[in-house]
Amino acid sequence: MKISLKAPAKINLSLDVLHKREDGFHEVEMIMTTVDLADRIELTRLEENRIKVDVSEGFVPNDHRNLAYQAAKLLKDRYNVSEGVLIHIRKNIPVSAGLAGGSSDAAATLRGLNELWNLQLSIDELASLGAQIGSDVSFCVYGGTALATGRGEKIKHISAPPPCWVILAKPPIGVSTAEVYRNLKLEHLKHPNINQMISAIDNADYPLICSELGNVLETVTFKLYPQVQRIKEQMIRFGADGVLMSGSGPTVFGLVKHESRMLRVYNGLRGFCNDVYAVRVMGERYY
Ligand code: ATP
Repeated sequence: MKISLKAPAKINLSLDVLHKREDGFHEVEMIMTTVDLADRIELTRLEENRIKVDVSEGFVPNDHRNLAYQAAKLLKDRYNVSEGVLIHIRKNIPVSAGLAGGSSDAAATLRGLNELWNLQLSIDELASLGAQIGSDVSFCVYGGTALATGRGEKIKHISAPPPCWVILAKPPIGVSTAEVYRNLKLEHLKHPNINQMISAIDNADYPLICSELGNVLETVTFKLYPQVQRIKEQMIRFGADGVLMSGSGPTVFGLVKHESRMLRVYNGLRGFCNDVYAVRVMGERYY
């Protein structure tokens, strides 16, 4: 038996950091939405009692460091599953990009193994297990559009943003989320207005969504990697309606309503950056 699933990327329409907690994590408030750029996960039952990972990208680990492996191990140990699985991951989402590719692979693995191993866990149980793997995994279990709080694992679903294009541009660097948080100074942050963003989304007010985009990590990543800021400036210059860095970067996304404008932004960016994608928001929950 084989199960095939999509593991979509996310972008952050808002990302705010409130304070550093005693456990070392930062308390965040984020609005996340899924886009239709996805890895493909294939799960095949193995007679052998082991977890095997096979990844299409050579530089992504295929051992216990892989987040999909960790998802399988968590379920296997907790529910005493005695059979094995081969996890084949076809990467389409750029790695260390701020698009939660690894978290989404882990989330898809949780959903898929729940079926393959007939564990009969609810989607909420899977999301709460996901939080043990990483802060973004819970959101990725559901997909859609949500306000994520706590360290990112507390999920409140909100309506989907109105349909639009999303241009993703990733400069040829990988950014470590831990490094960005280490360099974050909590004083003098320009906090995004999360409530205003939620009401803009609820009212399908596209211009307001574009003007309310905000991410407190931008200034940190821009300082460490000035080329990320240059990509943002180019995207604004080519005419995207709203532009923001996703997560801790380095991917910058631009929202664009009309196809002709989308093509101008896409083609313009291709002159500066190899990794450019034109995708759609896919903000409805799939589970
Ligand atoms: P986030 O937006 O959640 O911070 P990201 O998009 O910045 O995530 P990922 O692509 O998820 O980053 O990968 C970050 C690290 O995780 C990389 O160092 C990578 O080697 C490791 N990793 C583990 N499992 C995976 C996976 N299945 N796919 C991609 N990277 C993985």
